[in-house]
Amino acid sequence: MSDLNKNYVAGEWVAGDSEIENINPSNLKEVIGNYAQASQSQLDTALNAASEAQKIWANTGLESRYSALMAIGTELIARSEELGTLLAREEGKPLAEGKGEIYRSGQFFTYYAAEVLRQIGETADSVRDDIEIDVRREPVGIVAIISPWNFPTATAVWKIAPALAFGNAVIWKPANLVPASAVALTEIISRQNLPKGLFQLLMGSGGKIGQSLVESPMVDAISFTGSVDVGRHIASSCIQNFTRVQLEMGSKNALAIMDDANIDTAVACALNGAFGGTGQKCTASSRVVVHESIHDEFVERFVTGAKAMVVDHALKEGTQVGPVSSAEQLDENLKNIALAKSEGGELMCGGGRVEREHEGYYMEPTIFTNTQNNFEVNQEELFAPMACVIKVGSYEEALTTVNDTRFGLTSGIITESLSRASHFRRNAKTGCVMVNLPTAGTDYHVPFGGRGESSYGPREQGSYAKDFYTIVKTSYIHSGEPS
Ligand code: NAP
Ligand code: MG
Repeated sequence: MSDLNKNYVAGEWVAGDSEIENINPSNLKEVIGNYAQASQSQLDTALNAASEAQKIWANTGLESRYSALMAIGTELIARSEELGTLLAREEGKPLAEGKGEIYRSGQFFTYYAAEVLRQIGETADSVRDDIEIDVRREPVGIVAIISPWNFPTATAVWKIAPALAFGNAVIWKPANLVPASAVALTEIISRQNLPKGLFQLLMGSGGKIGQSLVESPMVDAISFTGSVDVGRHIASSCIQNFTRVQLEMGSKNALAIMDDANIDTAVACALNGAFGGTGQKCTASSRVVVHESIHDEFVERFVTGAKAMVVDHALKEGTQVGPVSSAEQLDENLKNIALAKSEGGELMCGGGRVEREHEGYYMEPTIFTNTQNNFEVNQEELFAPMACVIKVGSYEEALTTVNDTRFGLTSGIITESLSRASHFRRNAKTGCVMVNLPTAGTDYHVPFGGRGESSYGPREQGSYAKDFYTIVKTSYIHSGEPS
């Protein structure tokens, strides 16, 4: 077994107690490799090593932290073609999206390299005589990072980079569906001059190694991105040890298309938001809320656009929609298509699995019309190349519909009216709002997160990340004569 499929613990590449096969969803005959599954004893070793390493890192001059993060980011950017290809092979997103994800991951590292040098505290005078106050942020300690398969590198990196920047140790449990990208990133990090155990990779299933990590009293903070059910479970495990926790979970994002919308913008944003990343984005537009006066024209063009999208092998030139990532996801998608039909939705295009040159989990972009917001398909996350159109009679009804969900990650409006756009921006109950833009597609230097069941805990990304990855200390210093 070469090192490029092992776990990385205490500065060493170590085999696990078993292995799993990593299959290319664009071509089920292609095995990308076999990957190590971490044992419980490796987790114990990792926790002890992290504890030692973190103490060293917290006392290491900021220049070393800055240099390490900058080097990792620069290498990711330089190798985005190669590593994006690997990511596209194992996850199934088109090559351009895979490359884009690695490039963006590099930018997260270079951004947080710069944040390393912006760690400045506050001072205050006391309300009492001769006392000064110093307020500073300290690292939290050992951070466990648990990431999903849909953005295997980016979701992990937007946690790993700030965790390291603010002086923490990291134990990373990636999704078992995407181990190759995890090993590739770890290999880059492993070549930096970091204390042994500061950054560690433990691959394995969520139910086993993930669960043990979450329950460990040695872990000081957990940052998780994934489904609501797992997030809720993690939060209740965390409370036993009062472990700090941050959860980014599911969503049910809506794009509202108003009667005064620019129709070209509306169609482009709906296609991008609904079918980009094969619809497997937490920011995907799975509900398209359309004003009745523009409904028929919009639907016709939306369906024409969806039918024209090229569904094929992630690495084939011209592919716009890759396969869905796994057999389980495909099954779930087909069940949701059946559900939409049984609830009364009208299938306009797509609707099933399709074959291509290589056997893979291919599905055409699927659009339903005549759906109501209270349909189960409009209340539960789909995570599929599938969108449901909901017709409304007014802007007020559109806003109510957009907000009628347990989730609240992103929302969008397509309108030419400044006053409507402003009203929507203030009244949409989501963490991110998009005006004349797709619901998906966010920047790396500003906060990201949602409301309701989409997020729990402090925001991720940008300088806001420090609220999670640091803990505040208030010191009082008596500077007068001894009393
Ligand atoms: P998932 O099934 O919840 O898994 C996420 C991670 O948690 C994986 O690494 C998984 O491991 C692990 N896990 C599972 N059970 C666990 C347990 N009991 N204890 C600890 N860890 C456990 O989610 P997914 O299917 O990978 O990803 C899709 C979901 O992620 C969607 O709901 C999507 O909306 C959400 N997502 C949200 C955002 C956001 O920022 N809001 C971004 C991207 C994705 P294994 O899979 O290896 O078993
Ligand atoms: Mg899963």
